[in-house]
Amino acid sequence: MKINEFIDYLKEININVTEKELSLLEKYYEFLVEYNSHTNLTSITQKDLVYLKHFYDSISVAQSYDFTKELKVLDIGTGAGFPGVILKIFFPQIKLVLLDSNNKKTTFLINLIKKLDLKNVTVVNDRAENYIKQNRESFDVVISRAVANMAILLELGIPFLKVGGNLIAMKASREVTTKELDNSKNTLQIIKAKIITEKSFLLPIENSQRTIIVFEKEDITDTKYPRSYDKILKNPLK
Ligand code: SAM
Repeated sequence: MKINEFIDYLKEININVTEKELSLLEKYYEFLVEYNSHTNLTSITQKDLVYLKHFYDSISVAQSYDFTKELKVLDIGTGAGFPGVILKIFFPQIKLVLLDSNNKKTTFLINLIKKLDLKNVTVVNDRAENYIKQNRESFDVVISRAVANMAILLELGIPFLKVGGNLIAMKASREVTTKELDNSKNTLQIIKAKIITEKSFLLPIENSQRTIIVFEKEDITDTKYPRSYDKILKNPLK
């Protein structure tokens, strides 16, 4: 995806990208590729592909959710900053926590945030099931791309939300996502959340499927959730 295609495809989803945003994205791209030459962060480094599969894919979630408010947002398993850093570039008023258990990635993110001079961003090197201990019921939005299947993500993510807050799962194939949702009915009941929107679309140019599910937290989560990661894996709440 060339820059002019990036701009045009964003217009199609009602985003008019500014010069400032384009300049931050360019700096992000350059720093990502430079850092990736000595520290493995992503297998996607070709410019057209980074703009399509990381930048466009991350911001496409704005079709499903209104990020224009002063939201406290947690990106679980953000990796090299997707979608969290991209959301921060387009919606600078959000208060963002970037969480990842991989120290290489969080070190990169600390440097990136300085380089882009982004404010109100906290980078945390921890596992979600540990970070929850001091951070229950404290976020408006929890978002995650390509981290865990739905039942696991719900158990890890919903406890972080205030009642009424939203978990946004960024998934690929509609069919796989539907299966994961079928297997998550029990989790949703136990964890006290419901689906509010589901949207599927094709990523431009390569036409692969994307599915975005938005959940709402309906009540306080029992403090026994999330369980330890071993227990979640061995015995999903389905
Ligand atoms: N979200 C990024 C993206 O879409 O490019 C990264 C996806 S990568 C496949 C999954 C990331 O989740 C890894 O960086 C891994 O370290 C992190 N991760 C997996 N389980 C985690 C957990 N329980 N707590 C925090 N981070 C986790």
